[in-house]
Amino acid sequence: MRTLIAKTARTLLLCCLLLGGPAAPVFAQQENPKVLMIGIDGCRFDAILYSQAKLLKQYIKDGGHTDKCDVLDNIPTKADTASGAGWSSILTGVWADRHNVLGNDFAGNRLKDCPSILHLANRTNPKLQCIALATWQPIHEHICQRHDGCRFVFDGDKKGYKDGDRVMTQAAIDVLKTENPDLLFLYFGHLDSVGHGYGFHPKSPKYTNGIEEIDDHLIRIVKALDARPKRGTEDWLVMFFTDHGGQGKGHGGGRTVPEIRTGFLILHGAAAARGKITDKVTNVDIVPTALTHLGIAIDPNWRLPGRAVGLKKRQK
Ligand SMILES: [Zn+2]
Repeated sequence: MRTLIAKTARTLLLCCLLLGGPAAPVFAQQENPKVLMIGIDGCRFDAILYSQAKLLKQYIKDGGHTDKCDVLDNIPTKADTASGAGWSSILTGVWADRHNVLGNDFAGNRLKDCPSILHLANRTNPKLQCIALATWQPIHEHICQRHDGCRFVFDGDKKGYKDGDRVMTQAAIDVLKTENPDLLFLYFGHLDSVGHGYGFHPKSPKYTNGIEEIDDHLIRIVKALDARPKRGTEDWLVMFFTDHGGQGKGHGGGRTVPEIRTGFLILHGAAAARGKITDKVTNVDIVPTALTHLGIAIDPNWRLPGRAVGLKKRQK
């Protein structure tokens, strides 16, 4: 079935080219593409490098990355460097001029008109298994609009994100062991709490310890991924990104503060172009990059402002 889909996609692409259709960039397309999207709230890239995080640093070395991923629009809107605005842009692929989430207050949001990546993927291919594991309620309630695949696995606000990350990690391992996800989004929330308590900075030992703690979770998750029976035929693209950085013990009002406004994107897997991504990258490029890897053509009617970045060109 997947072969048939790939063949159909290639035929459509050929027709498009012959008929002089829109010249979209063409990337490597494998038989069984899958995406693991990992969001780390309030993570600074310089602190990853300063930490002892084994997996993240290995993936930076072996994969592609940029340490200059803009988390805000240049339109400009009144969106703040806050989690609500940040995760809304990341998961819908549009800025606040469309979703109208300006901070952590979701009142007046227009997310109903801004489908999440889970909705966009399933709108194109209802058979794709799209799963998101959230510990922050608004991701489930507002941003993913209670998509069937979005699971609120733990209430981090009420019970703490340290336990939230642990529970979410176990849920991710269970999904990888017992289900067949094509797109899996995981949300880590504890590091942001650590930053608010002890400072968002590479020289804040509690903060770098927080990154190492996530890294330990990631090692277990990747182990579960690699143990999948059909791992050899699955072309996983693993992506890491954040909603904002931080300065001092906060991250609000960071539109003009590089330490807050600058995020990162790390891509790992056979489809990721190795080395530094030199193109300008923003957080609305995350959705088109993931969808492109899944072989989903970006519909112009979606009016996504971003585009796929950091993927290998098709070898042909
Ligand atoms: Zn945040």
